[in-house]
Amino acid sequence: MKVKFLGTAGARFVVAKQIRSSAGTVISANGLTFILDPGPGTLVRLAKSRPKIDSAKIDGVLLSHIHLDHSCDANVIIDAFTQGGFTKKGFLFTTKEALFGENRVILPYLHGFLEKMETFEHKKQITFKGITIQTFKHRHTAETFGIKITSCGKTISFIVDTAYFDELNEYYANSDILIINTVRFTPKENVLHLSKDDAEELIKNIRPQKAILTHFGMTMLRAKPFIVAKEISDKTRVETIAASDGMSIEI
Ligand SMILES: [Zn+2]
Repeated sequence: MKVKFLGTAGARFVVAKQIRSSAGTVISANGLTFILDPGPGTLVRLAKSRPKIDSAKIDGVLLSHIHLDHSCDANVIIDAFTQGGFTKKGFLFTTKEALFGENRVILPYLHGFLEKMETFEHKKQITFKGITIQTFKHRHTAETFGIKITSCGKTISFIVDTAYFDELNEYYANSDILIINTVRFTPKENVLHLSKDDAEELIKNIRPQKAILTHFGMTMLRAKPFIVAKEISDKTRVETIAASDGMSIEI
């Protein structure tokens, strides 16, 4: 499996000013290439990526929730890989809210272009061409699910936007790679996002082979994510790194 972070921005200001790119994360597994949370700029970053990633060759989209920094380019990516509906192919796995809610972000006319479309549910398992995707309900301001992907005996988990709660440790147990949306450096009341201390707690308990911090807001950028990651590594003795735009890792 391979993961490429086209963007690592989280929170409104970092996205609005494009201090970091808000493009999504490209995952390659078992011969498939798909995108998690294609935020603003994903289509452009795919074309500008080195090596270039052909949007027509994408096999699917995973969308954790409707917020614009995650969902903005989802429609255009689906249109690109289905060639405007000429080729019925690929998948979209997302929330009911994203597909059918009052604030749905996926245009209904695209539904019929896809080979497989499914909605997330708590602890639901979806399989597609040798890849298993398990989803867990998070606590966030929209209907949000975190994602655990297993392929060829390896598991990568994405703890996307959420407030901290203890069950997260159980949901994401046995992850080889743990990727955590660490929006804030310091916690803030009523902000349903993980802070540096929350990320450290999760890493300490879950103990993956490697942890990666991403989706940074301003407080994290000011604290320098690579320094924060180094501190977490030293404290937990789990190798922890900070993602940067364009970074790839292979498992
Ligand atoms: Zn969000």
